[in-house]
Amino acid sequence: MTRLVLKFGGTSVGDIERIKAVALRVKSEVDAGNEIAIVVSAMSGVTNRLIGYVNEIAPLYDAREYDIVVSSGEQITSGLLTIALQELGIPARSWQGWQIPVYTDDAHGKARIRSISGEEVIKSLQAGTVVVVPGFQGVGPDGSVSTLGRGGSDTSAVALAAALDADRCDIYTDVEGIYTADPRIVAKAHKLEKITHEEMLEMASVGAKVLQTRAVEIAMKHGVRLQVLSSFTNKPGTLVVDEDEVVEQEFVSGIAYSRDEAKITLVKVSDRPGVAARIFGPLADASVNVDMIVQNVSDDGKATDLTFTVTRSDLERAIETLNQNKNDLGYEDLRSDLNVVKISVIGVGMRSHAGVAQRMFKCLGDEGVNVQVISTSEIKVSVLIAEEFTERAVRALHTVYGLDAE
Ligand code: ADP
Ligand code: ASP
Ligand code: MG
Repeated sequence: MTRLVLKFGGTSVGDIERIKAVALRVKSEVDAGNEIAIVVSAMSGVTNRLIGYVNEIAPLYDAREYDIVVSSGEQITSGLLTIALQELGIPARSWQGWQIPVYTDDAHGKARIRSISGEEVIKSLQAGTVVVVPGFQGVGPDGSVSTLGRGGSDTSAVALAAALDADRCDIYTDVEGIYTADPRIVAKAHKLEKITHEEMLEMASVGAKVLQTRAVEIAMKHGVRLQVLSSFTNKPGTLVVDEDEVVEQEFVSGIAYSRDEAKITLVKVSDRPGVAARIFGPLADASVNVDMIVQNVSDDGKATDLTFTVTRSDLERAIETLNQNKNDLGYEDLRSDLNVVKISVIGVGMRSHAGVAQRMFKCLGDEGVNVQVISTSEIKVSVLIAEEFTERAVRALHTVYGLDAE
């Protein structure tokens, strides 16, 4: 018997008709004799609306209560899909994060799964019941509801697949698989039949939201067979595999962008040992993730400008933390800029091919796009540019690296 975890994202359960269509798809998997556990997202738009409510009351909200609000979207879908399955005569029940339980740490709003007890769910599956789990939510060490960060239902699905020792985890979404770039902005992007864990990890971490980064990490660590495919068609999707399963390797496999960036510049920070630690320490303590960093050479050896990026949702918290520590840090001014986007070129072939970054800078220069910050890893080059150039830059890079579909 094959045990599958099927995850349906927001658009796939976007309204009642879609939920009924998902129930029919699940029925065909049940009729084929498979054991099925389902993970659902909130209906599309719901999580954004819930976050909006919280922000309207308090931009610097209590993260514990934020989780109470935003976890509710998935709870609704889990109940609705379970009822839709029951209407088709399929035995089904929902299991909330705290019922399974899905144990997480206490980092409310961006919690990490620590462990999942699969025993009860496995018993239910073996008894022929379809299990429906709301993604995105878990339970923290003190018993309060936690959520896993935006896109976290992917992680719920992969972690559940690992805990249930499932044969495969299928991530159903609104595109037919993983493409060389977001197909919504690059018409010439093409679907990849396979992508390596490593490349998908980089793509996800630099903003390709088709999979949450943590989901790919867990799949890689626990050997979960992972597929991304559309719930709107019946076509094969993209498999996320180990490097040895990919026969032909392009040196660049994809271009990604992230609008979820905010730039902070600290003007005239004193240039002495230990200052970076004094700036980034309090930010880390406030759970602010810092991404790209650039420090200018100081003219006089006394003061320098320091620029770095954080996610948009962390901007307020970052500014507040820095302002609180202003006297200690001794900077002259703090400037923030939301008009930025991060563009990245990813490919394992970069290890063996020189000149990938150079080609990127030349392409952006030819397009008249100014590069503000650069960061690199072994298989990725990222740049920060002004947001209005997003589409132009991604499309131009897609062409330059020979990724355009014929
Ligand atoms: P879901 O609600 O199903 O979780 P998401 O919106 O989180 O869906 O992720 C799917 C979206 O990811 C697609 O609609 C697409 O716009 C975007 N995306 C970004 N980069 C890529 C890529 N390289 N391949 C496929 N989709 C991508
Ligand atoms: N509903 C959550 C979000 O929009 C989690 C998810 O859909 O993966 O981020
Ligand atoms: Mg998603």
